[in-house]
Amino acid sequence: MPRVRIAVRGIVQGVGFRPTAFRLAAARGLTGWVRNHPEGVDLEVQGAAASLQAFLADLAVLPAPIRVDQVEAEALPEVADERVFEIRASGAGETALPVVPPDLATCPDCAQEIATPGERRHRYPFTNCTYCGPRYTLIESLPYDRPRTTMKGFPLCSDCAKEYRDPSDRRFHAQPVACPACGPQLRLEAPGGLRLAERDDALRGAAEALLRGETLALKGLGGYQLLVDATSAGAVQRLRQRKRREEKPFAVMFPNPEALQDACDVSDAETALLTSPAAPILLVRRRKGGIVVPEVAPGNPRLGAFLPYTPLHRLLLEAVGRPLVCTSGNLADEPMAFRDDEAHSRLGTLADVFLAHDRPIVRPVDDSVLRMDADGPTLLRRARGYAPLAVPLPGEGPPVLALGAHQKATVALGFQGRVVLSQHLGDLASPESADLLARTVDDLLAFFRVRPERLACDLHPDYASTRLAERLAAAWNLPLIRVQHHHAHGAACAAEHGLRGPVLALAWDGTGLGTDGTIWGGEALIVDGPAFRRVGHLKPFPLPGGEAAVKEPRRSAAGLLAATLGLEALPPALRDAFGAGAWAPLCAMLDRGVNCPRTSSLGRLFDAVSALAGIHPERGFEGQAAMELEFAAERAAPEGTYPWAFQGGAVRVADPSPLVEALLHDVATGTAPEVVARRFHAALADLALGWARHGGLPDVVLSGGCFQNALLTGLVIERLAAAGFRAHRHRAFPPNDGCIAFGQATVAALQAHGS
Ligand code: ZN
Ligand code: ZN
Ligand code: FE
Repeated sequence: MPRVRIAVRGIVQGVGFRPTAFRLAAARGLTGWVRNHPEGVDLEVQGAAASLQAFLADLAVLPAPIRVDQVEAEALPEVADERVFEIRASGAGETALPVVPPDLATCPDCAQEIATPGERRHRYPFTNCTYCGPRYTLIESLPYDRPRTTMKGFPLCSDCAKEYRDPSDRRFHAQPVACPACGPQLRLEAPGGLRLAERDDALRGAAEALLRGETLALKGLGGYQLLVDATSAGAVQRLRQRKRREEKPFAVMFPNPEALQDACDVSDAETALLTSPAAPILLVRRRKGGIVVPEVAPGNPRLGAFLPYTPLHRLLLEAVGRPLVCTSGNLADEPMAFRDDEAHSRLGTLADVFLAHDRPIVRPVDDSVLRMDADGPTLLRRARGYAPLAVPLPGEGPPVLALGAHQKATVALGFQGRVVLSQHLGDLASPESADLLARTVDDLLAFFRVRPERLACDLHPDYASTRLAERLAAAWNLPLIRVQHHHAHGAACAAEHGLRGPVLALAWDGTGLGTDGTIWGGEALIVDGPAFRRVGHLKPFPLPGGEAAVKEPRRSAAGLLAATLGLEALPPALRDAFGAGAWAPLCAMLDRGVNCPRTSSLGRLFDAVSALAGIHPERGFEGQAAMELEFAAERAAPEGTYPWAFQGGAVRVADPSPLVEALLHDVATGTAPEVVARRFHAALADLALGWARHGGLPDVVLSGGCFQNALLTGLVIERLAAAGFRAHRHRAFPPNDGCIAFGQATVAALQAHGS
């Protein structure tokens, strides 16, 4: 009988591959074995030729969370007297690259079980199997076995133990396996910890509180979340006040895909992503007149929507029967609470009631946020369902640890030819978040048992990440590589696409310290591995009030005019909006250049234009003005553009003076703000092409927070492609500063490689 050796590569460990292979082989009457291999899974299979063919075909199309990238088969001589197919222990002495699966949303089989009366796990909120359930949030150390997870305190009952040991069972070697007899249990608590109810009563009590309009703190998969009724304006407003979050959109969890479909326009591709094992928050188009109140995401045509991804969320949403706001359990700027004691101390004033349980969470993992664009998904926040999946690292250098930037912090650990990027840690604005960054470093190093030999950080001396990197470099006596922010952006996108040679990087974002001490952010850089050269940038303009300009776009507008047409060209309405008390000091500030840092930031240009067009002249959260400009532009048909003046030779400086002049003319003559916004977007695509031609390289990478803007990204790619350039945008990581640690690790690894 024919026999083959099969090597399978992809995401095949910790996701139920071996029991699946066992069942498939048994069903086709095949013998042989399967075992984990450092790079995937190896099998030897013997049987009738047709059955072998069918088995190979099965392997190629296994459902998520398994992801088969590669199957190689090779004929072997027959083994006599083989009667069974078995799951073998991993080969001895193999130094396996640890592969840690991310947390996986409830699979259809487990969902069916908890919904079926009479099943052992009917209504059990901690049901899971080899295809689904917690992973990264409960693994304390590797290798991944139950005694090294937070399930170690829950000895298996005999029924669960039987399933765990049975290779034909869906729960064979499912480390977090549990049931109502042996696993974690729910409890309902008042703020402070007083116990109100347990088990199913706790769940029902929480649902009733939500229906009364109260705020629930829920101990979810990777931390505490705050939930309120998304159909109650009062409940949503109360949460905004308590959380000190005025206008920033909240995400909404829907009981099921049908309820989501009622409130939003969801395509098939979007549904596939929403129901995938990663089950992220997806920004989808809102329908008019849905039951979700506008207060959830004021003025936003999109809604961050997601579906229940644990049995606990499923049961709760089902009991409530309506969509719920579901947001990270934190105060503005602080990281999400994930331990029971800190949850009560930090969320006690935010929540009316707590639904908790006795399974500890090892590390906080927030929900991921994605958007489905015309050419595929864009990651906006990479956390649950994605971290800590590794990606290849260019350059086989010594282990490197990169500490990232200041906003949307992440930590990157490069070793053995790949990079593990931590989950999104939030902005480093509070002492608690700086502390979380330090703990995440310790966690990653201990988890993967890596000793870094070099460190990387941003150029900015005041970032908490930079200061931590300096401390660690001194303590461990290691070289510290300071990577310019936009270099890191470009390097990250180039590495994602495996581009080794020089590329032109368009790094467009809000803020990053340049090598000349000014704030950059509208950059065209030639990135060549560990080195870069600035070949184009926006002509710098002053930001009166510095940081204050980030939340007050009209300050950027005043600064832009001071640097181009003159302050007197500022539309009178905008000038008046400052009020007499603020206007004179602002002019004096600009006049004398006091507290007016100069910037080439494209993010601030977005703010300025938003204010000039009358779209967002007032205060708001960072990025709000730019978002509203994008939404306005989306409502207009393409029609015209605005001109630039290019200056300089080797470094092409883009002077926006003619753009501002034409734009103000439009505004003065009553052109709709939507059309102004659209023309501005077209002008940025022109700018991209101007710099691409100047750079003269076939590959252009797009990175930076501005490329979270789907319209801008689409227009730039289209424009560059039409002119024969290959434009690449981020796929594996977010275009915002969530990619910086990865970029820094890449630059450090390539430097080590070359040195
Ligand atoms: Zn399952
Ligand atoms: Zn059990
Ligand atoms: Fe950035």
